Formats: sequence, structure tokens, C-alpha cells
Amino acid sequence: MSGWLCIAGLGPGDPHLVTPEVSAAIDAATDIVGYIPYVARIAPRAALTLHPSDNRVELDRARAALQMAAEGRQVVVVSSGDPGVFAMASAVFEALEHHPEWQQLDIRVLPGITAMLAAAARAGAPLGHDFCAINLSDNLKPASLIEARVRAAAEADFAMAFYNPRSASRPHTFGRILDVLRGICGPDRLITFARAVSTADEHIHTVTLSEATPEMADMRTVVLVGNAATRRVGRFVYTPRSAV
Ligand code: SAH
Repeated sequence: MSGWLCIAGLGPGDPHLVTPEVSAAIDAATDIVGYIPYVARIAPRAALTLHPSDNRVELDRARAALQMAAEGRQVVVVSSGDPGVFAMASAVFEALEHHPEWQQLDIRVLPGITAMLAAAARAGAPLGHDFCAINLSDNLKPASLIEARVRAAAEADFAMAFYNPRSASRPHTFGRILDVLRGICGPDRLITFARAVSTADEHIHTVTLSEATPEMADMRTVVLVGNAATRRVGRFVYTPRSAV
């Protein structure tokens, strides 16, 4: 059988939020490649080899997956959420740029439900108008660029979704982002902290920027900031479809 490679999104955690297309690819695979906690979500079975790897080795992992597909194996690279959102799809194409010999392989990207959309659905419709997604990790870009983008998005009145808001290695930078937001959006702007969405640990709460503290976020949290019109309706948060 000839080899292929799928880069698949496993969704935010709940198995019901894995698409049938992704499940079918996993069922057909000989090899699963990915970050340790994501590979742990795949049920082991005979004739399926699991290749868990550590964080921050995305390019090595992408090359290894392409190599296996080139050798005739059926490979699924797994990401959480959607593989195109701060995840493995770009890493695979980056590897492909350097390896023209693999560019004719059968490669497909299979979408998944990304964290911000799962979180927004739980909260109501906070992303119902124009919005943007910003990764707050400074692994692959300078902190000055992150702050500049947050500032520009807030000044343009986008609703915002923040991925990787706060980690043990940078516990203080999210506090700085909250200060920037308070300065531009004011104290009453709604901000939703959505942790471990669709898992047993799920916790979602919405506060104003004046009430928000850095400790409300960790690496399992996606943070949604409303635009100037975002408001509460009953227990929900929504952003109107129109802007004046
Ligand atoms: N590709 C993933 C994002 C990977 S970056 C996606 O599309 O969702 C990892 C970040 O995603 C985490 O730091 C967190 O901000 C967010 N995230 C992933 N799963 C989550 C979940 N179940 N609940 C809340 N945030 C989540």
C-alpha cells in the first residue's frame, strides 16, 4: 500500500468533538505522531505504532512523519483543536519547503474544532463579530511583537482570542497584556477565561477587565476578550452581529 500523511485536529478534548473524517484517518493509520498528551488520546491497537514526542520538537516530528509516509506508511500527525491553529500543519509544510523530494506525497490537512470556537460556544457568542486570534507564547516571536499586535487589535476594536496565555516559564507577561488591554478597552470590557473546555476539568467564567487577574489563566486556558459592544444576556455573553 502506498504511504500517506494526514495532519489532523483532535478537537478540544471531548471525543464527541472529533470529526468523523479524523476518526476514519486514525482508524486507517499505521502510525500516529504527535506531542505526548495528544498521542495519549489515541486508543492503542495492534498494528498501530504510537510515536509520542516532547514539546518544541515540531520540525523533527514533522520530518519523521514525512519520512515514514515516504516509506509507504499511513501516518497521522495529531494536534489538539485544529492542526492549522498554532499547531503541526505549518510545521509539516515548513519541513516540506526544505525537502522537495517529499512534495508529491499524498498529504492532507484534516480540520478540527479549535479551542476558541469550543470556548465561544460554551460562553454564548462572544466572537459573533470581527475577531482575531493571538498566540501569547514568546517561543517563536518576540514579546514586543505580541504586545504590538494586542495593542493594534484592541485599538481596532476586534474581539480577541488568546492562546497559550500564561505558562510557568513566563508567569508575568500575561499581567502586562491585561494592563495594556485595560488602558485601551477600559475597566468594564468583558473577558472570558475558558479552561479545559469539553473535558472533565472544564471551568468557564466571565469577568470585567478590572476584575481580571493573571492567575485566572494557565496553559489549559483560552482567553476571549469582547469588543466594545460585547455584553451579557442572562448567563451568556454575546457580541452583536453589527457595528456602528
Ligand atoms: N491547535 C490548538 C491550539 C494549540 S496551542 C487548537 O486549535 O485549539 C495550545 C493552547 O490552546 C493552550 O495553551 C490553550 O490556550 C488552548 N487550548 C487547547 N485546548 C484547550 C481546551 N480544551 N480548553 C481551553 N483552551 C485550550
